[in-house]
Amino acid sequence: MVTCREDCADNPYTQTSQNPPYPFTKMRDGADMEPSVTDTLNRVALVLVVEDEPEIAEILEGYLRRDGFRTERAANGRQALSLLRAAQPDLVLLDIQLPELDGLEVLRRIRSNGNTPVILVTARTEDLDKLLGLELGADDYVTKPFSPREVVARVKAVLRRTVLPEVSRPIMRVGPLEIDSEKVVARLGPGRLELTPTEFRLLETLARTPGKAFSRAELLEAALPDSDALERVVDVHLKNLRKKLDAAGVGEMLETVRGVGYRLWAE
Ligand code: CA
Repeated sequence: MVTCREDCADNPYTQTSQNPPYPFTKMRDGADMEPSVTDTLNRVALVLVVEDEPEIAEILEGYLRRDGFRTERAANGRQALSLLRAAQPDLVLLDIQLPELDGLEVLRRIRSNGNTPVILVTARTEDLDKLLGLELGADDYVTKPFSPREVVARVKAVLRRTVLPEVSRPIMRVGPLEIDSEKVVARLGPGRLELTPTEFRLLETLARTPGKAFSRAELLEAALPDSDALERVVDVHLKNLRKKLDAAGVGEMLETVRGVGYRLWAE
């Protein structure tokens, strides 16, 4: 078993000035600490790390555990899918280049029957994979080489906007849509829209001010606050959201505002 203690000095994934060699001790007492995911959930969130390179998986798991998460690890796509069923993780950290089934195929299958938050990890520099991944319903992505601390921050950010309740989040009604921010559910009459966490967050943002034209930057800030995603990523998520609204018969509520962004009409 490779541990960071022996390994990190040479490891490119930990060699940035913001990332002192593991183990570093400033994670629990820094003034910039994020709110504790563990406390807020009243249980420890479980992250499934899907990564075929043991050293990288080891580092990620180490950082996540130090920050209070539980972790499970899958070394290939098939294992990821079986662990997803068996362990029901709160979030999946998913490498794209995997043996057996690649990450995008795993993502496709995750999304075919659920909305578990997914952060893609890609070594590829092509935007195509990222966009494809987002189109398939990933909630965010990180590019290798990454800083493990940044990955943990992204995990927290995604969980915060998908799982963690906020203090006061009333149910919003926009036309026939009902948006329950506390339960993270959008309903249309008796039916329920099956949205990814990011799609939900975008819909929720638009629904706060029906008729207002939101810029892509505003939507990105609301839905992917700690991401370095490009503004066109918003288009990908909104395209997916529109497909779902279309399928539910209310696609016309979501309007593209040329040169600006998007708005949601109440009717
Ligand atoms: Ca890999």
